[in-house]
Amino acid sequence: MADQQAPDATVQQQDGTVVEGAQAQGGEGEMTSTSLGDGLTVESNWTEVTETFDAMDLREDLLRGIYSYGFEAPSAIQQRGIKPILLGNDTIAQAQSGTGKTATFAISALQKLDMDRRETQALILSPTRELAVQTQKVILALGDYMGAAVHCCVGGTAVRDDIRILQEGVHIVVGTPGRIWDMLGRNAIRTESVGLFILDEADEMLSRGFRDQIYEVFRFLPEKVQVALFSATMPLEVLEVSRRFMRDPVRILVKRDELTLEGIKQFYVAVEKEEWKFGTLCDLYETLTITQAIIYCNTRRKVDWLTEKMRSKDFTVSAMHGDMDQKERELIMREFRSGSSRVLITTDLLARGIDVQQVSLVINYDLPTNRENYIHRIGRGGRFGRKGVAINFLTAGDVRYLRDIEQFYSTQIEEMPMDVADYV
Ligand code: ADP
Repeated sequence: MADQQAPDATVQQQDGTVVEGAQAQGGEGEMTSTSLGDGLTVESNWTEVTETFDAMDLREDLLRGIYSYGFEAPSAIQQRGIKPILLGNDTIAQAQSGTGKTATFAISALQKLDMDRRETQALILSPTRELAVQTQKVILALGDYMGAAVHCCVGGTAVRDDIRILQEGVHIVVGTPGRIWDMLGRNAIRTESVGLFILDEADEMLSRGFRDQIYEVFRFLPEKVQVALFSATMPLEVLEVSRRFMRDPVRILVKRDELTLEGIKQFYVAVEKEEWKFGTLCDLYETLTITQAIIYCNTRRKVDWLTEKMRSKDFTVSAMHGDMDQKERELIMREFRSGSSRVLITTDLLARGIDVQQVSLVINYDLPTNRENYIHRIGRGGRFGRKGVAINFLTAGDVRYLRDIEQFYSTQIEEMPMDVADYV
């Protein structure tokens, strides 16, 4: 079989990096497109890929922070985005949320710090208070062994406290545009030492009307400040920011392949009542374990409940949802990927992150609450052409939703046949 994953001109280097794309050897500035084989495609004018954190030449204490946080290998955007930032390039990284953008700039900012100077060296703008707080937490955790001081400047907190902390000196400041602009205006954030300016979720920020404030913030920054821009999409306003304030940026676009239902056999089981779903699932258990199966529920509570209930009947199942911490989730995903666990019960939250390519059976214990999640749960990247089976549990009230999904995707969902195991 032809290797669909390998781009023809990928060149393996000796130092743990690879150069990818058909134009790997030349053509500075040209965009090359590479399919990663796990439902992702990368387009970039930067061809160097660093496949391990070890190969990124990071400080020892930062590397320790990364591994203790539970990361083992860099994600697609991290493999391509960290290095160009470390080398001083203005960088635009475009990728959906959940692909590891935060850690891309967190690691880059931390690595670039001079720990002997307790001055603001990186400034990060986030669209919301919540995101700013979360970003601060990630940076603090990754930079724990370095002793990095990170302050979060957001509205709704005492200005006086911000000023005091900033004057004591921190290495990184993250915040929302309004408060950051305020702090700059009061000279509480000294900008001489700011070498790296990061705009996170630039599209979100601009759609929230922060344009003028972002431009104002730029005016405070040193002429030669390095800019890294992260965004899920690239609307005109974001392009305008990049044109006005960025020099010859490295561009990295990580996009999910178009999902399709082609090749997926879709069935329903009319369970009538919610209470009858469980018995139906138990009857199907043997079919589930022929290969590997994912069972989707609509809430975390339900995942926990179903997991308990399956285990009480001596069925072996794994469960994962957003209430679990990173380490626990990674462990469960590892077990599932390696095949040592065969049935995974989970919620939509993770549907987009799970590599469903290897899973040939998906059960919608609950029908998804919107159409998009249906395809995220059971669709797959077209070019793989692998077959799969989806089984929808249907209560009487669900019938019209299923018809709606059928119509929306112009697809057929048939009653599950007795010999469903033959399709798996
Ligand atoms: P984004 O900023 O693109 O939305 P995040 O950086 O928040 O994405 O990452 C999404 C999730 O993936 C987080 O739970 C994060 O801890 C996790 N994650 C990010 N990078 C890695 C990695 N290299 N290995 C394992 N998990 C990762």
